[in-house]
Amino acid sequence: MGSTKYDSVIIGAGLSGLAAGIRLAQFGREVLVVEKHSIIGGLNSFYSRFGRKIDVGLHAITNFVRKGIFKSPLSKLLRQLRIPYDLLDLCEQNFSKIMLNDKVAKFSNDFTLLESEIARLFPKSADAFRRLVKKIKDFDAYNSDPLQDASTRHMLATLLDHNRELEDMLLLPTLYYGSARENDVTWKQFVILFRSIFLEGFARPFDGIRKILAILLQKFQELGGEKRLRCKVQRIETVGGKVAGVQLSNGEFIECDSVLSTIGYPETVKLYDQNRFEVTPKGQLSFCEAIAIFDRQPQEYGWNDTIIFFEKNPHFSYKKASDEIALSSGVICLPNNFHYNGNQSLKEGILRVTALANYDKWKAFSGADYQSMKRHCFDRLTEQAVKILGDKYIDFRTWKSNLLDRDFFTPLTVERFTGRINGAIYGSPQKIYDGILPIKNLFLCGTDQGFLGIIGAMLSGISIVNRHLLLGREA
Ligand SMILES: Cc1cc2nc3c(=O)[nH]c(=O)nc-3n(C[C@H](O)[C@H](O)[C@H](O)COP(=O)(O)OP(=O)(O)OC[C@H]3O[C@@H](n4cnc5c(N)ncnc54)[C@H](O)[C@@H]3O)c2cc1C
Repeated sequence: MGSTKYDSVIIGAGLSGLAAGIRLAQFGREVLVVEKHSIIGGLNSFYSRFGRKIDVGLHAITNFVRKGIFKSPLSKLLRQLRIPYDLLDLCEQNFSKIMLNDKVAKFSNDFTLLESEIARLFPKSADAFRRLVKKIKDFDAYNSDPLQDASTRHMLATLLDHNRELEDMLLLPTLYYGSARENDVTWKQFVILFRSIFLEGFARPFDGIRKILAILLQKFQELGGEKRLRCKVQRIETVGGKVAGVQLSNGEFIECDSVLSTIGYPETVKLYDQNRFEVTPKGQLSFCEAIAIFDRQPQEYGWNDTIIFFEKNPHFSYKKASDEIALSSGVICLPNNFHYNGNQSLKEGILRVTALANYDKWKAFSGADYQSMKRHCFDRLTEQAVKILGDKYIDFRTWKSNLLDRDFFTPLTVERFTGRINGAIYGSPQKIYDGILPIKNLFLCGTDQGFLGIIGAMLSGISIVNRHLLLGREA
């Protein structure tokens, strides 16, 4: 049992919390990570089901760059955490697609493919697209900028001469992989997401997220960091406007000099000020995901794509679903379709399909109805994906007869396992970029600091520690 006085307590053992913990421990700080769940990883964890290890969320690690490329978020992250590149076992995607109604653009980790696809589909907008990319490359996303909160819809309409189809095609992947706002995202976040998806790229370790989590945990513990699982922070205690410690749900009080919260902006405010919590903006966007395990490799059906972002209607709509799920758009992921090292292949076929959902509708179900709606939505969502994936139509019933296992998560699943209000994966629409909260020595990092995704969350943890707790050692 460790001491009950620490330099820092980190609330949450997700990716941002673990990275922040390593950084503090590297500088000799006594640090404790407190996690309410029984395993680490938060939004991007894994679980066992009938002997299979299943990733909770992982489609792909964005921000991929090849070894030796410096000045990228991934290389900064590895340098700061002192993790060798090869340890992550990152394997690149085959290729992915954006499908907007009848228009299809392919992209891969080679950006020139997307450039040529945009020029093919929208020849008159090719120059405008090049200018847009230059603007994105030149933007300083890590410092404050007058344009940071501008509407991306507005920016794109101007920069792409009101080419709504092209605008929608670029927003499909970026909003799905990181926007907490309906039908838009701030310019700063769009730039970060565009770079991480298109200018950098997608990769995945053969063993999925477990690989990354194991590296982080080992590093943290070797440096003397401590963690406590199944341990919920009930309150952040303050004295004279300054952090004094945290009160756990088992009644224990842990004294500390600083607290770093990774659990979200409104969720953190609730721990120290109930009145302020009522008026703090909460995220409304949540998702469902179907996970299907089947008895053959997807290539046998001719499915070679890694990720497909689709919208069936002429215009892309990204908003809270009016029914339990919205079937008109979503994300299809085939984790088999990465170039795994040594020509390894995953033993079984895996299909993941994500769609926008409605938290309130799911919340209203009773036990049996909830389970039967999950089964119904699984069928509808996977049927949609099978239709989209098939070059020629593959009979859904035949595909279903090849299923070995299935699972389905809803906004309630996310809420239960991570504590995110409304199951809002991308958190609050209001981001706290500097990580500063009105209590002295209480800081926010992770999703609601504005850096999303696996690499983004870890960088957030590092940069907030550098800026506020190690004074000036910027990530
Ligand atoms: C379904 C899904 C798919 C995703 N796919 C991808 C992907 O393919 N690629 C990608 O890059 N990103 C993906 N993401 C996003 C990525 O997982 C997140 O951006 C990242 O994991 C966020 O990490 P975090 O540390 O900020 O927050 P979290 O992971 O939410 O960590 C917060 C932790 O705090 C704990 N906690 C909450 N309240 C308390 C409390 N009171 N006391 C103690 N502990 C508490 C929670 O249990 C949780 O473990 C996906 C997310 C989801 C949900």
